[in-house]
Amino acid sequence: MSKSYSTPVSLPDAGLDRDEVFRRMAAVRDKDTRWRDGRTFSLVFYAGEEMLSVLKEAYTMFFSENGLNPGAFPSLKKFESEVLSMTAGLLGGDSNTAGNMTSGGTESILMAVKTARQKFRAERPDITEPEILVPVTAHPAFDKAGHYFDVKIRHMPVAQDYRADVNAMRDAITERTIMIVGSAPQYPQGVVDPIAELAELAAARGILMHVDACVGGMMLPFVRKLGFDVPDFDFKLPGVTSMSVDLHKYGYAAKGASCVLYRDKDLRRHQYFVYTEWPGGIYASPTVAGTRPGGAIAAAWAIMNYLGEEGYLGITRTVMETVRTVAEGVREMDGVKILGEPHMSVMCLAADDPSLDIYEVGDEMSVRGWHLDRQQYPASLHLTINWAHSQSVEQFLSDLREAIAKARRFSLSKLNSQMGVLAGSALGVLPESMASGITRMFSKMGGSGLPKRSAAMYGMMGKLPNRGDLQDVVKDLLDKFTDAAKK
Ligand SMILES: *Cc1c(COP(=O)(O)O)cnc(C)c1O
Repeated sequence: MSKSYSTPVSLPDAGLDRDEVFRRMAAVRDKDTRWRDGRTFSLVFYAGEEMLSVLKEAYTMFFSENGLNPGAFPSLKKFESEVLSMTAGLLGGDSNTAGNMTSGGTESILMAVKTARQKFRAERPDITEPEILVPVTAHPAFDKAGHYFDVKIRHMPVAQDYRADVNAMRDAITERTIMIVGSAPQYPQGVVDPIAELAELAAARGILMHVDACVGGMMLPFVRKLGFDVPDFDFKLPGVTSMSVDLHKYGYAAKGASCVLYRDKDLRRHQYFVYTEWPGGIYASPTVAGTRPGGAIAAAWAIMNYLGEEGYLGITRTVMETVRTVAEGVREMDGVKILGEPHMSVMCLAADDPSLDIYEVGDEMSVRGWHLDRQQYPASLHLTINWAHSQSVEQFLSDLREAIAKARRFSLSKLNSQMGVLAGSALGVLPESMASGITRMFSKMGGSGLPKRSAAMYGMMGKLPNRGDLQDVVKDLLDKFTDAAKK
């Protein structure tokens, strides 16, 4: 499709005045999701105004500083190394543990995959087509890394409890396997993979093992301290060679803050990029980014020091109480259930009764102002509960009860009872706004009388002739989201 979705915007001839700039920005912000009210479930981690103000002050204090050259900014160097060692300390690391701060979980995972590829290129040049085994539930950032770095990512089935199937992983390891992956926890159902068994397997086969603790790394240590049962998942297990941990999730840091950690400096060296022949000088950079925002590094240091262990424990206690309220509320409701046995505060809701369409429930929740991401395989709605939801949990449960009742009535009168499931993994996690964008695009592509609601859209997507079509549709949609907004 060559059709353009937007009117080009050009740089204004003369600058606007300051008030006008902010007036326009505030006006468009009006339509954004209201994350302060605890109605979104994964995009924003909010722990109250006090903490937000600490983050903002720290971020703006180091707003202009650049983490590209730590030599020029010893302040950032100190913050980064202390953030890394505080994080490693929570995750069974010791004085050998080494890492870097990155812009987010994706960059941390990209780095871990690149490091694995580089180590094996150096030590096992006979492996020309390296592969990494990941459970199907691992984050798509691994697929992105495979796409960028030309490493084959093989997806392994999970067990009944949604945790990685260790036997399947063991059987799938070949001469070409350089690393296996487990998550703590995985995103779709929030369960921690059997990391101890996987780490043992990796060690026995002489390959690397990455633990993706992007969402759990700053939560599970505190959940465990509060007395909940958390399986081992970190550097205490000798087979674990690298970890990814996001600070901008349950670390409640400003966005753009994550850590990639390695068991030792030797492994980390494979991550580095150095080019010595540039007329501009010898160029060296540890991670993907060149210029790095000092604000994100400084704000992570600030919030970790401001909260301390006591602060994180307090927030974690509130979050886990909210989780219990949700779990009990759901247990008392007919028609929905939580899948698996989530280890912390990430979970999903599925229909417990074949006559109920969980996507319909999701649409009814959208009507009531809640933003729940849709998942597939199996059909479900995703919840990442954070501090902000302690304020909104009662309303959530009463709206959910209503949404289920409404969805039941709706589905009885509906003709298409067999709802397909979205046939592409990327779309499974598209937020509601993108999903409705797809619906609109489909109608432009010639479909007529298409239903507006996403439950019907998801059913329709399931009927697409092939995956290739779906890839194109999603790429068009990405174009659309990057292009300038329609006037
Ligand atoms: C969020 C997340 C990622 C990716 O992190 P980004 O910061 O969004 O790049 C990777 N793995 C898991 C389990 C996650 O929850």
